[in-house]
Amino acid sequence: DERWQVHLRIAPLGDEYILILAEDRTELTRTEAIRHDFVANVSHELKTPVGAIGLLSEAIDDAAEDPVAVRRFTRRLSIESVRLGELVQDIIELSRLQSKDVAGEASPVDMNRVVAEAVDRVRTEAEARGITLRVAGEITGVVFGDPDQLMTAIRNLVDNAVSYSPENTVVGIGMKSVKGLARISITDQGPGIAYEDQERVFERFYRVDAARSRQTGGTGLGLSIVKHVVANHGGEVSLWSRLGSGSTFTVKLPESDPEIPQETTESGGK
Ligand code: ADP
Repeated sequence: DERWQVHLRIAPLGDEYILILAEDRTELTRTEAIRHDFVANVSHELKTPVGAIGLLSEAIDDAAEDPVAVRRFTRRLSIESVRLGELVQDIIELSRLQSKDVAGEASPVDMNRVVAEAVDRVRTEAEARGITLRVAGEITGVVFGDPDQLMTAIRNLVDNAVSYSPENTVVGIGMKSVKGLARISITDQGPGIAYEDQERVFERFYRVDAARSRQTGGTGLGLSIVKHVVANHGGEVSLWSRLGSGSTFTVKLPESDPEIPQETTESGGK
């Protein structure tokens, strides 16, 4: 069965006995395969902007006599280098998240503020495209976690909602504390995501429509960063969507009990 990887080592032990060592390498093999995939994907994704930057530099050199062409190539060069920068930043962020134990740097986080900041950052872009940002509700509990990670996650979802929204539509951000969970949902009136893609959009580098995503400047890593952050905080992220009817991403994070001081409950071990 290829789901199991067992390494067997057999050695004679004198004339009468043999020694059989069986090592379960299933988990190791799986982790190695994931790492291998990631490295292959990263190399592939980096080659595109790096290649473009190389070609554009040559083109600028060749077009030295033609200032209009030089300006055009320079503009493209700058777009590609920004893209490369974002990609590298997301790759670093994701690798950091995958190896990080969130409990070490946890502090009480006011999710209302996190959402407000994420919304503020997209306000200019939304206004320019006639997109209305509608924020409603309130998180009454406190989420215990890493404020930077939580900010990154909410920002990615709000950024996506705005970038995939057509002009003159509404992006709704709802907040609610229910049964010890902080629930934040982000709804857009964009193209929606087909059922068969709904799980896959959380995978690294998966894009439903690579050409369109590239236009909106995405790296394909945003949602997988969101998924890791939320999982690191003991929560979950879900997606409701239908093609042509927009999308709703909902993040649920456990709220901490304000009666229990976290410092004392967190310290386990030695
Ligand atoms: P990207 O950087 O390409 O946006 P993400 O990981 O954030 O990468 O999203 C993965 C893919 O999921 C996107 O390329 C896009 O196809 C799809 N997607 C994400 N958010 C939305 C949304 N709000 N509406 C429609 N499609 C979306």
